[in-house]
Amino acid sequence: MIALAVCAAIALGVGAFAGADWGWIAFSVLLVALLLYHLRNLHAIGRWLERGEAPDPPRAFGVWDRFHALLHRSRREAAKREADLAEALARWRAAARALPDGVVILDGDRIAWCNDTARHHLEIDPARDAGTPLTHLVRIPEFLEYLEGGDYSQPIQVQPPYSAERVLSMQVVSYGEGQRLVLSRDVTQFKQVERMRREFVANVSHELRTPLTVISGFLETVADEKDPAAARHYVELMSEQAKRMQRLVEDLLTLSSLESSPPPPLEERIEMRPLLERLGAEARALSAGRHRISIDSDSGVDLLGSEKEITSAFGNLVSNAIRYTPAGGEVRLKWHGTPDGAAFDVEDTGIGIPAEHIPRLTERFYRVDRGRSRETGGTGLGLAIVKHALGRHGAALQITSTPNEGSRFSARFSGPRVTAGASTRH
Ligand code: ADP
Repeated sequence: MIALAVCAAIALGVGAFAGADWGWIAFSVLLVALLLYHLRNLHAIGRWLERGEAPDPPRAFGVWDRFHALLHRSRREAAKREADLAEALARWRAAARALPDGVVILDGDRIAWCNDTARHHLEIDPARDAGTPLTHLVRIPEFLEYLEGGDYSQPIQVQPPYSAERVLSMQVVSYGEGQRLVLSRDVTQFKQVERMRREFVANVSHELRTPLTVISGFLETVADEKDPAAARHYVELMSEQAKRMQRLVEDLLTLSSLESSPPPPLEERIEMRPLLERLGAEARALSAGRHRISIDSDSGVDLLGSEKEITSAFGNLVSNAIRYTPAGGEVRLKWHGTPDGAAFDVEDTGIGIPAEHIPRLTERFYRVDRGRSRETGGTGLGLAIVKHALGRHGAALQITSTPNEGSRFSARFSGPRVTAGASTRH
């Protein structure tokens, strides 16, 4: 407006001096110049907007300068909003990617996005499979039925076709307009623990039921028995079964205390030489002269931890060696230092163990020969106790065996629980 008024004023001045015609001519020329100036500015701003990334708007005067400044500011604000949004999206994706559960975003039934966990669980590739219907890629019949059924109130458990062991819990959550989230969680371990718990309860019940059945059977017989010698015999048999139940309950309690008590103390020294002597005496009592027993103990190294637990673990290894070695055989106990720490070896010349059983020996109630274990008073929990007690002392059990030749059970210790022997410290 000001520019127009200035043009008009100049044209009026020219008209007053040189006549009306010259005034009009001057006004027209000024008007065209003004128009060209605006067109040039419009063009420049168009170019600037087209270039998008250009930092500063073109220079101009008057109204154009203000207009450029406004445009520049709103463009900067829009760019910042866009950057903020992109950052929020990136943060959200990073968080969803880091989730331990699988997440697939479905648009209709097509994959819009998925995280790495879903990729592993469902074997889909977010880059390759985006836009593909999920039902074309995940061929788990129960899941497809669930997805199409529309009742997503409860998750379902499925087994993916690529693994016979893995179990996935899957749930669909609907949101927005036709959008759905598919969540997957690996519950394999949970199912395994559940199965182990069921098996354990069944095993314990079975182990207790057998002696109980025997005792209640004999009780009825003994009640009607007139002959005192026969009655005594029945009572002895019942007492044997009662002892068996007692051993089982004691082993169960030992296992439970190993599982639930705090780690063994690092301050308590276990003097190994006297412990080995006690174990030797126990072995001799158990063998009752049927085996040759030798003890070799290195006094240069001791352990830090729970003497009770170590005695129980080593005692089980020694009693197994005696129980599974026929009369006339040999049992050797050896405590010695190793390059990594120390080891307790129990070697026997007994019945040995076929290789396929070795990896499972420390499972609760796992026995190679159930009958032989029972005959010799076994509960099937000895090596499970050994494994737990050793694990709590940073040790591992190594088993080597040859059927009909003998076995070697070696408890290998390393780390801070191995210490110089009491007799070598002074
Ligand atoms: P059990 O009370 O039956 O002896 P363990 O847990 O101590 O239970 O041992 C598990 C199984 O490992 C035994 O039933 C037996 O078959 C086998 N076993 C353990 N020690 C020996 C050994 N020294 N020689 C041969 N077999 C052994």
